[in-house]
Amino acid sequence: MNTQVQSQPKGFWSGLALWKKILIGMVAGLVVGTIMGPSAAILKPIGTLFINAIKMLIVPLVFCSLIVGITSMKDTRKMGRIGVKAIVLYMGTTAVAIAIGMGLSSILEPGAGLNMVAKNLEDSGKAAPELVQTLLAMIPQNPVNAMAAGNILQIIVFAVGLGVSLVLVGEKGEPAVKIFESLAEAMYKLTEIVMTLAPYGIFGLMAWVAGTYGLDVLLPLIKVIAAVYIGALIHILVFYSGLLSILGRLNPINYLRGITNPAAVAFTTSSSSGTLPATIKASREELGVSEGVSSFVLPLGATINMDGTALYQGVCALFIAQAFGIDLETSDYLTIILTATLASIGTAGVPGAGLIMLSLVLSTVGLPIEGLAIVAGIDRILDMARTTINICGDMMVAVLVAKSEGELSEDTYHAS
Ligand code: ASP
Repeated sequence: MNTQVQSQPKGFWSGLALWKKILIGMVAGLVVGTIMGPSAAILKPIGTLFINAIKMLIVPLVFCSLIVGITSMKDTRKMGRIGVKAIVLYMGTTAVAIAIGMGLSSILEPGAGLNMVAKNLEDSGKAAPELVQTLLAMIPQNPVNAMAAGNILQIIVFAVGLGVSLVLVGEKGEPAVKIFESLAEAMYKLTEIVMTLAPYGIFGLMAWVAGTYGLDVLLPLIKVIAAVYIGALIHILVFYSGLLSILGRLNPINYLRGITNPAAVAFTTSSSSGTLPATIKASREELGVSEGVSSFVLPLGATINMDGTALYQGVCALFIAQAFGIDLETSDYLTIILTATLASIGTAGVPGAGLIMLSLVLSTVGLPIEGLAIVAGIDRILDMARTTINICGDMMVAVLVAKSEGELSEDTYHAS
């Protein structure tokens, strides 16, 4: 036995697990960005390269894997059941997230003593997007346009329709199913290849964030950041873990291990759509969610389930009310829960989308839109936490739905 272990730099990096490389990339980016300051922006293109590569995967991956998922299920009734379960869980967990956000904001009072004055409190005129409009827009008039535009909700609707039809035509649909199966396999492979770029891309993005927002800028808003990050931890460690143990009778520790890679990607890219390939991969390979459930529930979640965004909206709405000295009534809290839940359906899984939707929540309760400007400066830092929760929520729901349908490989789940 060779006990003399020589330090061998050769092979050290390539031998590391992906999540360790990502972690190293993240910390290195933080250090380099802090040292370089704003000039760290020159490293951003490395991150952009990674984000572009991962975005490239989304449309074909979602489309092919969704069709494969549906055709592998053969049972269209089962699809409907899974959809309903997922949507109920998505909406329920989102409402809890907002309540946690508002609770923390009440306790920490980040806006107390800021004494801001709104120039025009009348800024509440913007109407919420009509629900009917949103529902109608889900059906693509032209599926090719939907793909070109990357409209995930429309792509889901078309892929579900096509998948179900392929099942219904039986034997005649089989050649097409085979083509989609083969394309889906290739897309999983491509995802794996792109993910090897993650540590470098994440390094570039982290350096840029750290260099752009020095600590000084953060200090006045540190309580808002604390509220969002503490809320995020409570939501995952207490609420999600609790649901997994109680509803799913599963050990949440395995879930927490399984979400590490996509969580790191979400944290650094601030895009749940962009993280989708990593989310799908980890749900299948680490958490044991079947192909059928993951390829349907996860793209849907990346589009309509935004617990982190909702939690952040709860924190920010109260922060802005406190900062401007506006007292909220019980009905206002309920309105915030309702609008933020609906807003989360309409929030795109891209960086900064939550900030735009915050204006909708503020205007619905009559809070000054100017409040947006205060939190906009630290939006990226908040976005990192909320996107992470967004995708962790999707994965948690996928596990619960899979478990309830007998579509969870518990061996894989417990092995992670
Ligand atoms: N960036 C978030 C996401 O992609 C959305 C948001 O801005 O809240 O999930």
